[in-house]
Amino acid sequence: MSKTPTPVPFVDLHALHQSLQDEIEQAVRDVLDRGDFILGRAVKTFEGDFARACGVSCGIGVSCGTDAIALGLRACGIGTGDEVIVPANTFIATLIGVLHAGATPVLVDCDPDTALMDLEAAERAITPRTQALLPVHLYGQMVSPSGLQAIATRHDLLIFEDAAQAHLAHRDGYTAGSVGMAAAFSFYPSKNLGAGGNGGITVTPNAHIAERLQALRNYGAPQKYVHAYRGTNSRLDTLQAAILNVKLPRLPEWNRQRNEAARRYDRQLEPLRESGIVPMRNDSDRGHVYHLYVVRVTDESPLTRDELAAELEQQGIQTGIHYPIPCHLQPAYRDLGYEEGRFPHAETLSRQILSLPMFPGLSEAQIDRVVRAIETAVRHPVSSAARS
Ligand SMILES: *Cc1c(COP(=O)(O)O)cnc(C)c1O
Repeated sequence: MSKTPTPVPFVDLHALHQSLQDEIEQAVRDVLDRGDFILGRAVKTFEGDFARACGVSCGIGVSCGTDAIALGLRACGIGTGDEVIVPANTFIATLIGVLHAGATPVLVDCDPDTALMDLEAAERAITPRTQALLPVHLYGQMVSPSGLQAIATRHDLLIFEDAAQAHLAHRDGYTAGSVGMAAAFSFYPSKNLGAGGNGGITVTPNAHIAERLQALRNYGAPQKYVHAYRGTNSRLDTLQAAILNVKLPRLPEWNRQRNEAARRYDRQLEPLRESGIVPMRNDSDRGHVYHLYVVRVTDESPLTRDELAAELEQQGIQTGIHYPIPCHLQPAYRDLGYEEGRFPHAETLSRQILSLPMFPGLSEAQIDRVVRAIETAVRHPVSSAARS
């Protein structure tokens, strides 16, 4: 191979933060001047604005997305003895959230074309102990709101969304976070809306749940030194909220750019479908906010997923795998009792999926370079074979 062209990073938020530098510095200075570090003004502002953007009345800032799930479920009254249905192919934090609430996660398989929770499998997994469906709007695409609500209504279940990858995603007239009783978001820096560190929020239309959650994140105290609940310390930092306040108004434009980039990937990758490179299906058009752009490297491909990733790395293109091991096969969770082979789609996907570079500001030239590199790899798979 000749000289290596400019690398394409998996995520690059440098330009984005550069453009906001003055505003972020000002917002941080304002917090330092006011000194309202704990549950300060910026937190209140952000909670209101973010909840409104989701089309929901209440938002409660917490310290991370994992706590947004754990405390959110507890505030909904879910805990010991309750079963919560979750997809097997999600980031492990979904599972951690359910377990930290004291509830029992019941795992189900996914649709292999979208990687979203298989709703028929979810319905089959319902038992008399089931209290909630916990859909994950994976990669930035919402699980069908009407599909979820039909099951929830039939079986009198609560819906709790894990929207950590789907800020402002929409589908069938619903915005992520507005489908059920409550929803959790993460502001981990690389999410579609990221803080300068950890952060999370639970949104809910229910004022009682909101009140309980406000106490739970604050030592369980609805008033100072009166501990009505066994709570914890999990508040959204005022400094993080100040940064999020600067970034939130830009989120729709950033999501638009992600969606636009995904469309270009889709178009350019179309001819590679017959070579086994198949993008995950988008069932929600512009409502997909593409936290990740994921393709499957199927058995029709001359290369395995790992070979393709290695080949791209060689050509200076960073990729990711979300996620390489499904939750039920993770060492720490084997005692949940799910054997290998139990969730065939999730397991196959874990071997086939590859996340391509995706971030706001990803240029057309960068996308084209990624696609050309994939083309080269699948058309001339000899080079990787020669290396091994
Ligand atoms: C990031 C993420 C979380 C957890 O968020 P943290 O802020 O890192 O705790 C939960 N669920 C999903 C699907 C995520 O992607």
